[in-house]
Amino acid sequence: MAQTTESQEPAPVAKSKTGSVIVAELAEDESVEDIEQSEPRKAPSAGSTAEPEPELERPASSRGTDTPDNPAKKVAPNIDLKEVAPPPAPEPQVAAPATPDMVTGEDLTGQSELEPVPEVDPEAPEEAVQEPATSLTLLGNEVLPGTSTRLAWSPGIQIAGLSQPTPVLVVNGANAGPTLCLTGAVHGDELNGIEIIRRTMYDLDPEKLSGRVVGIPIVNLPGFQQASRYLPDRRDLNRHFPGSENGSLADRIAYSLFENIIKHCDMLVDIHTGSLKRTNLPQLRADMNNPAVAEFTRGFDRMAVVHSTGSPGMLRNAAVDAGITTVTLEAGESHRIQEHQIDAGVNSLNSLMEKQGMISRMFVWGDPEPVYYDSAWVRAEYGGILFSSIDLGDRVSKGEILGYVADPITNAQYPIRSSSDGRIIGMAVDQVVMAGFAAYHIGTEAEVPGE
Ligand SMILES: [Zn+2]
Repeated sequence: MAQTTESQEPAPVAKSKTGSVIVAELAEDESVEDIEQSEPRKAPSAGSTAEPEPELERPASSRGTDTPDNPAKKVAPNIDLKEVAPPPAPEPQVAAPATPDMVTGEDLTGQSELEPVPEVDPEAPEEAVQEPATSLTLLGNEVLPGTSTRLAWSPGIQIAGLSQPTPVLVVNGANAGPTLCLTGAVHGDELNGIEIIRRTMYDLDPEKLSGRVVGIPIVNLPGFQQASRYLPDRRDLNRHFPGSENGSLADRIAYSLFENIIKHCDMLVDIHTGSLKRTNLPQLRADMNNPAVAEFTRGFDRMAVVHSTGSPGMLRNAAVDAGITTVTLEAGESHRIQEHQIDAGVNSLNSLMEKQGMISRMFVWGDPEPVYYDSAWVRAEYGGILFSSIDLGDRVSKGEILGYVADPITNAQYPIRSSSDGRIIGMAVDQVVMAGFAAYHIGTEAEVPGE
């Protein structure tokens, strides 16, 4: 991937660089740049989190309505998402929303056996009187209240008849509530989010849900099929939101996703991993200067929260601009399925849904406990082979040696030292690095907003 092959329309970042530099530069887009380019976090002012700013107005007609391109509306079949089902569309080669090495149809309720035995809260509130839900119209289908289904989204950029619709999982609860959207694999090589969405959604009971959950496990299906972060035109989809109808391939895919699905959401969690040989402690990237977003982060349990204002074109930024409360959830590294990271993501999303009044879990785990961080990257000063002395999640002191870069030719060894006291919330796995490579992401605990 990311070869410097000839292209009539090179991606803007690829100008006159060698292939390796392109990879390094693109790799920094998501994991490094959105932190380093962030505006400073503003000190929370009293009461600022209690009263979210008025969001940009969305026309009422844009929510729960059909796009003009989809005039025919049919009632979506009610599907138990736990059942193994055929692909949603007639096309023969639709990818199932799971990677090939994952077991499908597994009863995931057994997951909880691994967790500590929880206590039933004797003070659990009485169930409030629930308002019945309405149908959700999405992608030309009407999803009735109290049902779940699989739909298909097709950005319409492929040759007719060869198009591969992207599966969209929908659970429309029996009771009214907000619409939470979950997106995975916007970068096609980031697998943990696919599994986080599968487990979260297949565990939902539409009869007991208040609100709607819409999950797109694999947004970048072409990238996923080639184990590539990018689109077929080598662009980073997460730099093209909200997209445009008449722009590049990436613009059009972004536009189609944004118009047909994202605009129906009240809240969005876009799930990513570290890019290209970097790994992340499960963490949120959130613009803590946005009161609604800051309040939203408080629902995620046991999650590091890192302030980031993001970069233009990111799905998170475009969605927030459209009035949708959005965070990025980072978990682990690309190309891998990591059980520990997936567990953390699923747990945190369940905590969020409970906090939003969408589900009531049988077990009470206590209040969610996100931990807020300010953060900075420590870079390698020399090229060579990186060997880390610390692990992800370790607590470190200022000046402590985090790892070495060894020059394989001169045998010189260059230590990399921590810039501050803190915790390793992201790091490069051992690899060949060049000078300037962002190797360690150090988080220092910050004030909890509104306290
Ligand atoms: Zn990503």
